Amino acid sequence: MNIMQLITRIETPEPWSEGEKIPWNDPGFSERMLEYLVKYKFKAIVVSVDGATQEIYEIYRRGGHFNTVIQNIKKINFYKQKYQRKFPILVWQFVIFGHNEHELPLAKKMAEELNMGFVIRLNWSPSYSPVKNKENVRREIGYGSRKEYERKFHRVYMPLCYQLWDSPQVNWDGKLLGCCVNRSSDFGNVFKSGLEKCLKSEKYVYAKKMLLGKEKPRKDIPCLSCAHYKRINPQKMNPVRGYILRLIDVVKSV
Ligand code: SF4
Repeated sequence: MNIMQLITRIETPEPWSEGEKIPWNDPGFSERMLEYLVKYKFKAIVVSVDGATQEIYEIYRRGGHFNTVIQNIKKINFYKQKYQRKFPILVWQFVIFGHNEHELPLAKKMAEELNMGFVIRLNWSPSYSPVKNKENVRREIGYGSRKEYERKFHRVYMPLCYQLWDSPQVNWDGKLLGCCVNRSSDFGNVFKSGLEKCLKSEKYVYAKKMLLGKEKPRKDIPCLSCAHYKRINPQKMNPVRGYILRLIDVVKSV
């Protein structure tokens, strides 16, 4: 989701027009956006930083600049002090892989120094750079793999489908994707039609019902081409519980 665009619109009386360029390379623009996150009371930001050095960070976050991320976090902290705000709560999310597990202690230390919560997530695709020291992960979060989690709690590990209910994902260009896995189609463009209208669209509402098993699978719903969809047990889908669990995760981390 492009938070920056959404914040910009708070201050811009004119609707965001299609094709309008955002001055991403203007340092003044980025700085202002960081200030707005604090000034306009964003509640929480989860920053995915899967490493504690540039060398490791860029393996998964290709093209990413570790120092820029850290500097921007520091700037948000600066504005939190300036405006005497507790928000946004900052959470360092560490997706654990075989290539970065040795940097976990350092990342945790850095998060603490930056006044951030810290959560560890398992990789979306277990076959990519799998964790080598599962015992270490087990010690940290209580389970060493998705399978272990599912055996222990009798539910799918962090089903991203719940994002459709509690944190609808918006692409950088305004397309409402619903969840962060979906790449195949969208539910309208929030910059053109507004977020509320897109969330109430027939297709979006149908997708949610489909995930709960209340409607039949339909070709134009992106879930149909998602490997995850086949594993969902609609009887066990519970968006309220999903939201609470994720909230607990964030609260526990800070
Ligand atoms: S089934 Fe796949 S595409 Fe559909 S909401 Fe769940 S994770 Fe997203």
